[in-house]
Amino acid sequence: MIDIAALYAQFRSATAVSTDSRQPQDGTLFFALNGPSFRGRDFAPQALAAGARHAVVDDNALATQDPERYTYAPDPLLALQELAQYHRRQLRIPVLAITGSNGKTTTKELVYTVLCRRYRVQYTRGNLNNHIGVPLTLLSIKPAEHELAIVEMGANHQGEIELLCQLAEPTHGLITNIGKAHLEGFGGEEGIARGKSELFRFLAQTDGTAFVNTLDARLPELATVVAERITYPGPTDTYPAELLSAAPHVVLRLFTGAPVEAQITGGYNFPNLAAAAAVGAHFGVSNDSIGEALASYAPTNNRSQLVRTTHNEVVLDAYNANPSSMSAALHSFATRPGASAAKVVILGDMFELGAESESEHRALGQLLQTLPLGTVVLIGSHMQHAAVAPGFHYFPTKAEAATWLREQHLQGQLILIKGSRGMGLETLLEHF
Ligand code: ATP
Ligand code: MG
Repeated sequence: MIDIAALYAQFRSATAVSTDSRQPQDGTLFFALNGPSFRGRDFAPQALAAGARHAVVDDNALATQDPERYTYAPDPLLALQELAQYHRRQLRIPVLAITGSNGKTTTKELVYTVLCRRYRVQYTRGNLNNHIGVPLTLLSIKPAEHELAIVEMGANHQGEIELLCQLAEPTHGLITNIGKAHLEGFGGEEGIARGKSELFRFLAQTDGTAFVNTLDARLPELATVVAERITYPGPTDTYPAELLSAAPHVVLRLFTGAPVEAQITGGYNFPNLAAAAAVGAHFGVSNDSIGEALASYAPTNNRSQLVRTTHNEVVLDAYNANPSSMSAALHSFATRPGASAAKVVILGDMFELGAESESEHRALGQLLQTLPLGTVVLIGSHMQHAAVAPGFHYFPTKAEAATWLREQHLQGQLILIKGSRGMGLETLLEHF
């Protein structure tokens, strides 16, 4: 057992918590986490030499020898999580947890932008949404400073959201949607619904508040376990909203006010924007401030970004892909204004689909055949199953696709780029 009070005292004297010895330390509390091919303890001296004030290691001898600089924990990851939970329990602030299959980070950024109009908010940086990132986010909340926190929670298997809820003790929760992401680890779509709704079950047990996207086929039903429900964006919901236009940027009407033009593209972002508005309204941000905040958010993270290059216009959505986000992005792209002959889609492999991979890629190929598109480019070993029509251009590697794309000298085209993170398709942008 670790002495959590003693560890908390170390934490309170530190500037921050760190887990990466290559990052600047200057007074941090370093957790020597083990990786698949390394032992964190080996990096602790380096972290201390770089300025960390104390290190948590799974090496009892080291801690006994030099207790000023080292604390022993049999499992430093568990110690990090326990410390985060302990810290969270000292805080008397609302914590909003955001999970879901798609759009978590986008929604989190939008909610942050809105809530900042009225509160001092701490929130998940980047995509630090797992069993390490959530504790780090919690430990970055400053009691004297922050009035509210937003925690993104990601999961690829059952029980993960429940664990993250135990740590973060959210008072409020939002599930963006239930779709086909991480099919492999969750064991199918039913498994995804069960895994994501762990957040609602936690809120049900703790008298929390759920924000419910009524556009999703399953969320209203899954949310019924929670007594306090705030719904959006249907006309009879707590906070209605209306999608007025999906392209070039999303324009929506909030509640009954004036239209708001966002800087993100694609109709599938409408529920993300409406979610941020609902959270803002619930926490008392004025309608005008919500509208201004949503209009001010410009993505710079390869998600739903509209980029004008010298010769073309690109919908850069290369951050990630799975069957439901691919389908949402393609439908949205196909219905954008503009001649279908001048529409080019460049799609990369969808990972983490396990046994469903071949059939999901084949289904994608079938969907592509039904959509009004000019050019279809498919990249990666899984995408060979989507290459079902003779007109599709298939390349096993990104390098081969890049060579071909360069030779096409595309001009005046509307181009969608999307694929799983590991494909890194954003590097293709330079060819347009
Ligand atoms: P991750 O699991 O990587 O953390 P995430 O859930 O945080 O992903 P985002 O990073 O916000 O999701 O968005 C990733 C992609 O998902 C976007 O680029 C977009 O294509 C798609 N997407 C975003 N919102 C939605 C939505 N509401 N419905 C369907 N697809 C969406
Ligand atoms: Mg994310």
